[in-house]
Amino acid sequence: MIYKDFQGEKISRLGMGNMRLPTVGGEPGSPIDYEQAKSMIDELVRSGVNYFDTAYIYHGGKSEEFVGKALSDYPRESYHVATKFNLGANPDYRAQFAEQLSRLGMDYIDFYLLHGVGDDSFEGYTGCGCIEYFEEQKKAGRIRWLGFSFHGSPDTLRRMLAIRKWDFVQIQLNYYDWVFGTAKEQYEILAEAGIPVVVMEPAHGGMLARLNEKTAAKLKAMDPERSVASWAMRWAMGLEGVQVVLSGMSDMEQARDNIATFAEGKPLTAEERAAVEQVAADYRTDVSVPCTACRYCTDGCPMGLEIPKILAAYNASKVEGPWALMDLAKLPEDKRPSACIACGACTAACPQSIEVPKYMAEMAEAEKRFRR
Ligand code: SF4
Ligand code: SF4
Repeated sequence: MIYKDFQGEKISRLGMGNMRLPTVGGEPGSPIDYEQAKSMIDELVRSGVNYFDTAYIYHGGKSEEFVGKALSDYPRESYHVATKFNLGANPDYRAQFAEQLSRLGMDYIDFYLLHGVGDDSFEGYTGCGCIEYFEEQKKAGRIRWLGFSFHGSPDTLRRMLAIRKWDFVQIQLNYYDWVFGTAKEQYEILAEAGIPVVVMEPAHGGMLARLNEKTAAKLKAMDPERSVASWAMRWAMGLEGVQVVLSGMSDMEQARDNIATFAEGKPLTAEERAAVEQVAADYRTDVSVPCTACRYCTDGCPMGLEIPKILAAYNASKVEGPWALMDLAKLPEDKRPSACIACGACTAACPQSIEVPKYMAEMAEAEKRFRR
């Protein structure tokens, strides 16, 4: 296992995220499969991993309890636990913090974070008094290091950094968001401020561990022995300002693959970095509908559908996940993809000959799932 010094402590570069643990029967929302999840923790500890990340809300509040119990077999000073205060779940920060210590069965938390600070939650987190309270807890030794996880704009990140000197910050950082999102800018803001980065979603919510066949084949061609996911991990570990790379592991196979990657500890070369960033660009082109939003199709649609907007949501869902389609639920019923009568007038008018009805049908199916 590779390590990096953090304020005099040796911390593994790989951290275990505990929000997608194996569940009983494999069903999302089912209880954590304690035996399977515990054996993953044991394997990670044996391999030298000493950073375990959880949160008040993961697994319906059961993840903290699981982490505390699973780690109780090991000396408290041999591992680091990170957990997060969630303002939306319970604004009473005193009560939530006390409950977290009790769930974990610990008398201090190593890395404590405000959970999911963003443009909308900035005022709530900074105005409620929780930061001052957690600073008191830090002085009292119940929190060792204070930070926040972030899901917002670079401007809001700058505003957060102006508030106090944070010990660390957790951001979504992966080669896809580096090219297409604001990850690079966020990373540079933190690097300039000298704040260590904890990486969440190094594989973009699993997308960079799966990709599609064509894209995965390109990575396999570069090195047939390596998993698709390992490229994302090696990309992230190569950034100078990165302290820990978190991976939300769901089974032993993923845990062992990550262990192998971080045991070898071989970051990507400059050529490999450029190659995976190109892979990201090719993937995006591959899975997206090439709509240019020219609107040649809209006037002729008998249902008056906002075709380019709907196709933009389709493209977002391919790279961000199906929840990007949730916005379509805000449209009136007769303007949603399910209202398409498959007349084909749009395809006939489209300079790219996009088979719009096919995508509308696919989204109409997804729409049904959101309604359930
Ligand atoms: S196929 Fe659907 S989206 Fe296209 S013009 Fe007809 S009703 Fe509108
Ligand atoms: S005509 Fe084609 S490219 Fe133009 S907005 Fe409609 S679907 Fe998109």
